[in-house]
Amino acid sequence: VKPTPRTTIHRKPARGSYDRDVIHGIIDAGLVAHVGYTIDDQPYVIPMVYARLGDELVLHGAIASRTLGAAADGIPMCATITIVDGLVLAQSWMHHSMNYRSVVVLGRAREITHPEAKRVALSAVIDHAMRGRSMEARPPNDKELNATRVIALPIEEASAKQRAGAPLPADAEDVGSPAWAGVLPLRWTAGTPIADTGVRGEPPASLARWR
Ligand SMILES: Cc1cc2nc3c(=O)[nH]c(=O)nc-3n(C[C@H](O)[C@H](O)[C@H](O)COP(=O)(O)OP(=O)(O)OC[C@H]3O[C@@H](n4cnc5c(N)ncnc54)[C@H](O)[C@@H]3O)c2cc1C
Repeated sequence: VKPTPRTTIHRKPARGSYDRDVIHGIIDAGLVAHVGYTIDDQPYVIPMVYARLGDELVLHGAIASRTLGAAADGIPMCATITIVDGLVLAQSWMHHSMNYRSVVVLGRAREITHPEAKRVALSAVIDHAMRGRSMEARPPNDKELNATRVIALPIEEASAKQRAGAPLPADAEDVGSPAWAGVLPLRWTAGTPIADTGVRGEPPASLARWR
């Protein structure tokens, strides 16, 4: 995508990217978006699940949701997705860091109102968190669909920023320091599935894949 004055990365620009594949890859690998907007001069940042459908970020929620109502009204939005890959430990406090992948998307959303388009978007949301899950559970009926608002934010004015690898080289005064330096990799791990009461049989394929 094209950088704009608002998405130009000033701090550590080498870690930035406007490559569509990089941006999409991070969005696809994340789980939660922090969705920001301003109402009456007060910024709100709300965690939400999401999906990517082509060049759009899809969000959903109750019709009564203030966040989605504001989004549907077309006010400026910001969605941020962050994945922490590790703690970067250095000899000095100053060089401590994190390995991460993150994306910031700015723009105005459109509401998806056509029932079939809504179902497609909602299946993407279900499948984003757990691939294949939409095939294993009942899709929304008309009443459920009417109670749900779905919005799409274009992934056009967007940027990615990421850091990987070792700490920066030690400063002269830290060479030979006894402090341990390196990286503590972090990643999501799934626990053992806990079946709901009354559920029999093996966990489905989607769960096995996640784990
Ligand atoms: C991991 C995760 C995923 C979620 N996914 C979705 C989703 O896909 N769709 C969806 O509609 N909701 C989702 N939620 C819930 C969402 O964060 C909001 O609570 C909910 O959408 C209500 O939003 P609202 O704008 O109507 O909030 P309101 O109820 O109008 O918010 C009023 C105030 O309540 C407080 N508040 C609201 N939400 C939270 C929160 N999560 N944590 C702490 N304080 C809060 C804030 O102060 C906010 O200003 C998710 C929450 C989490 C943690």
